[in-house]
Parts: sequence; C-alpha cells; structure tokens
Amino acid sequence: MEMINKSFLMKLCWFIMNSNSHGARFMRAKFSRSKGGWINYYKKSSVWLGIKWVMNDVEPNSSWVVGNGNNIWLWRDAWCTDISFAAMLNIEASGISMNAKVADIISNNKWAMTATVSSIFEKLGVNILYLPSPSNKNDERIWKHSPSGVFSVASGYDIIRDHRPKFCWAKWIWNKCIHPRLAAQSWKLLHGSVGTNDRLQKIGICLASKCYLCGRHSESMTHILWGCSFMEEIWIWIHNIFNLKRGNYITDIMNVARSQSEAVRQAWNVASLSSMTEVWLSRNRVLFDGATLSINVLKIKILHRVRCSAARINGNLFNMVQDLLTLNNLGIGARSVKLRRSIECLWVPPPLGYLKISCDGAARGDPGAAGAGVTIRNHYSEVLATISQGLGSCSNYIAEVVAIILGLEWAVSNDHSKVWVVSDSKIAIYSFKCHMVPWFARGRWNAIKGFFTEITFSHIYREVNFAADSLAKQGSFLDQGVTTLSLGCPDQLVLEMPNKVYYRFC
Ligand SMILES: [Zn+2]
Repeated sequence: MEMINKSFLMKLCWFIMNSNSHGARFMRAKFSRSKGGWINYYKKSSVWLGIKWVMNDVEPNSSWVVGNGNNIWLWRDAWCTDISFAAMLNIEASGISMNAKVADIISNNKWAMTATVSSIFEKLGVNILYLPSPSNKNDERIWKHSPSGVFSVASGYDIIRDHRPKFCWAKWIWNKCIHPRLAAQSWKLLHGSVGTNDRLQKIGICLASKCYLCGRHSESMTHILWGCSFMEEIWIWIHNIFNLKRGNYITDIMNVARSQSEAVRQAWNVASLSSMTEVWLSRNRVLFDGATLSINVLKIKILHRVRCSAARINGNLFNMVQDLLTLNNLGIGARSVKLRRSIECLWVPPPLGYLKISCDGAARGDPGAAGAGVTIRNHYSEVLATISQGLGSCSNYIAEVVAIILGLEWAVSNDHSKVWVVSDSKIAIYSFKCHMVPWFARGRWNAIKGFFTEITFSHIYREVNFAADSLAKQGSFLDQGVTTLSLGCPDQLVLEMPNKVYYRFC
C-alpha cells in the first residue's frame, strides 16, 4: 500500500515539475530556488512533505531532451549524464557560476563551449561529439522508463517496488487458456505454499510424515509432484493421451509440447496443471474427509476440468490426424486448421530524386547485444552507402529506431532532402509516422527533421529487407558506438533485386 501511495505521489511530483498549469507553476514558484533546485527549509504545506519524500525517486529516473537549453541548469540538472555535474564535482570551488543554463553553451543550434567548460566535460569523461544535438524547440523533461518519456503510475510503481526473482513457469501459469482459479492453485502448489507435512514440521508441529497418496515416503511438495508413484501413474497416463515423451520436472513438462500445434499446446497446459491440482485436492480429501483414493475417479475429475476449460482453448490445429485424436480423447471438439499461404513481396526502387533508406535493428536477446543496419539506394537501385553500428546492450525496438535515425542523419550530412524510409518494424515506423518518436531518439530527430522537404515512412516485410538485416546483425558484433560506413555496396552484401519476386509464408 505504501508503494502504491508513493507511486501516486510520484505522479503529483512529476506534474509539479513539468506541467504548465497554474497549480504546477504556483508550486514551482513556491518551492523552487531561483538558482535551480528545490528549497531545503520549512514552508507550510499539506503536500510538500509528500513530494519531498518521492523527489529522490523521480529526479534520478528522469532526464532531458535538449532543445534550446533555456530550461536546463547546466551544472545542477542531470541532462547528459545519469547524475548532475554538480553532484559529481565540487564545481563551486572552481569558481564557475552555478547559474549557467545549457543555453549558454549553445549558439545557432550548435554546441559552443568555452575552454573551461570543455575541460570539465573532458575531466568527467563526457565526449562532446556524442552530446545530444540541440534544436530550436523547448527542452523536454522525460521519464526514462517509458519509450514516450511520459511518466505513468505503473512504471513508477515498477521502479520502487520489490523485485522478486522471476520464474520461468510464470507465463505458463498466468496464461489466457488457464482459468484464474486453476492458475492460482497451481501457482501456490509450485511455490510450495501449501500445508504439506514437511512444512508443518518446519514450523514446530510434531508429526510423523507420510505421503497420503503412495504411503511409502515422507511428504513434501517435491515428492508429491515429481517423486510419488501415484502421481507418476497420472503423469504417464496424461503423457500417453498427448503422445508426448515423458517430462520429469516443471521445465520439461513446459517444453515437451513445444513443437505441437497451438491448440494442443494449450490443451497440454490445461491438462498438466489440472493433473497437479486434482492430485493435491485428492490428497486433501483422503486426509480430511477420510475418502478412499481412486485413480479412475481422479482421471475423470482431471478430464472434467479440461473439458470445462475447452472454451479457453482457441488455438489452431495442424492438419494432422494425431491432433484431432488428442482433442477427441480429452473430450474437446476439433479446432480450426490454419493453412499456410504465401504472399508475393517486391522490392521497389524509390522515385526519381528520392533515396530509399532501408533500416533494420537486431538484438541478440531482448535486451541483448544489438546493432543497427542501413542501406541507402537511389532510383537506379544503386547502393550509395551502407551503415552498420554497434549499439551495446539494448532492446530490439531501440535498435530499430536508432537505425532509422542513422539513415536519416546520413541523408542530412550528404544533402539529400527527399527520402523514403522503410523498415520491417511496424512499431518503429508507426512512431515516426505519428510523431511519437521515443525520447532516446527525440533530440536527434528534432535536430534533423526540418531539413527534409519530402519524407515518407513505410513498413515492408522482412523478406524484402534482408540486406539491412544482415548489416544490423554485423553491427550487433561491433562495440557500442563503433560504426562501419561503406560507400557503395560491400562485396559480401546480398541485395534485394528490383524485379525479383520474394515469397513470405504466413
Ligand atoms: Zn507418495
């Protein structure tokens, strides 16, 4: 509850820091110092104490997209590094005015630093060449943990909450095909949050531990699920229905049906979790109600549970008799079969006077070592340049967006103002088309977008974007920031041909 309260206060804090409404301007005027930063003495207010409480969670997680630099304090704000320069160095002792704004080191939308400022940047390891480009727009404070840069209570809560270890089987349980009640029961079982004998002994209850299912071993959740001969019979029976190779532990159980059709995978998901839950409930009936253990009754209960979840099993089948037999044996009706179809794809050269900039990003893991790849071709389909760049560890989306920016920056530096940008990432193209460029690229985009007289963004299939894909993969093996620029087509690169038909199967 405290964390939820705190995340809502973070939202209020964000509002006070950034909004132009009367209320936010009033709060800023009342609680900020004229030389930047917030007051550190007492002023009567019902909300300021709460804001101060969360300020240290909000400020370090925000940054700036530099525009004209008028709103950013050069030394007090963290605008190009994770923490402010003032926090890193005792700048006041070096006799520099703390009142400087970032605008003071910008001239005509370019960095114009004095020798003293440059030397401080150098001392702090900030490379002036990699600073975000200024523009004539207003500065914008952004929240680092959302691509749009806008604060949300959900992302704020995610920053401050306790992060427990992730379990590989979480997605397997919290899945749309699993009824929430079954998911909750399975979650508790797999966490061992149930009153098995070994847990009762641990909290000091003196009892003789015995498995109520097989009667041969002491009882623990690990034994019931993975070691008990009674459960073993159920596992063999359910594996036989699905005609699957026997899996021994939870990770095996999850993966044995990986190559099956979606409907069979969903049915397997339901059936295996139902088996575990029903066995546990049978154990409880034996212990508390004095019921007799019957494997046939248990099998009927498991099948009944699976049938009750039939409406949630909505995937497609492969066009195979085995899939139909499996669902029939479970008592679930047939599902539709997805037929693969082929789409013809063409690589189209750009119109006369335009450049076609094909972009792609690749990340080995998401996030993982990433690279950006770009090919730039003219209306004769000739390659003017190719770029591949190493981006360090980042997500696929970031790599896709940076690839587009790299291509556009090349066009600007080579004086091409009419461009057609294509990428196989729908979301990256959508971000540029709908003026929702993510904050990490917004500064670079603002600095170049005014240059283009004609610019079009299009999504294409990856089957006709393989040259950029290959360059992006090469880039992912380069160090962060290392760029390979090649004028003309590199020898090894296979290009898309303008008159050839490529096929996409889906
Ligand atoms: Zn047992």
